[in-house]
Amino acid sequence: MLKTKIALALSLAMAWALYPVSTEAQPATQLKDRRYYEERGDIVWEVPTSDKFIAFTFDDGPDPRRTPEILKILEENKAKATFFVVGDRVERNPEIVREELRLGHEVANHSFHHPSFQGLKESSMASEIAQTQESIRKVTGHTPALFRPPGGFYNEKLIHISKQNNLQLILWSWHQDTNDWRAPGVQRIVNKVLNNARNGDIILMHDFVYKSSQTPEALKIILPELKKRGYSFVTVSELLSHKVAPRNHIKVNH
Ligand SMILES: [Zn+2]
Repeated sequence: MLKTKIALALSLAMAWALYPVSTEAQPATQLKDRRYYEERGDIVWEVPTSDKFIAFTFDDGPDPRRTPEILKILEENKAKATFFVVGDRVERNPEIVREELRLGHEVANHSFHHPSFQGLKESSMASEIAQTQESIRKVTGHTPALFRPPGGFYNEKLIHISKQNNLQLILWSWHQDTNDWRAPGVQRIVNKVLNNARNGDIILMHDFVYKSSQTPEALKIILPELKKRGYSFVTVSELLSHKVAPRNHIKVNH
């Protein structure tokens, strides 16, 4: 019995030695929180502003079916938006990207193949970004100023590469992640946006989805309602130009 116990203890000790629980410190990037990157201006989640502006963003397009439909709804509501496009779809649908710009929307970089950036080599990250800049430039003559990584992944390397390409890294308001790509129901998308809407929001939606899209139907309800509340819909770059520095509370003596 004792022998078995010793053998067991020994094998456990060996297993421990072979497969130690990782005590390695997390990479520094993951220890820093949103505030660190936000204060430095490295990443934007939303824009503090006293103006009643909201930025709608549509990812993963252009898509020959959905994008024109969304463009029409935006037009009907005098809304400008930002399209984070995927390079290889840009090359397949160049006329849609030109139309986005012609209508006054912003076209921004969302990588070339939409890979997961997690674990991607630095050189691959760089080429995903550069290739997309080049595609958009080739098709429209326009150079994007904004980049959104697929899945919202970021690290120090990616921040550095974005800066090298003169791209501002843009994510989205945490309270405005509509999950529209999962088709959660039109009303759920509507509620998510309307129940949380506030100045400076960056709303995450998609103009390309694999399954059926509920985004156009939701937009038809969301845009008129927000307009009623006094909001205007602007591109992300326009929203950034309305940023006010958050001020500390000033005590007033009466
Ligand atoms: Zn995406």
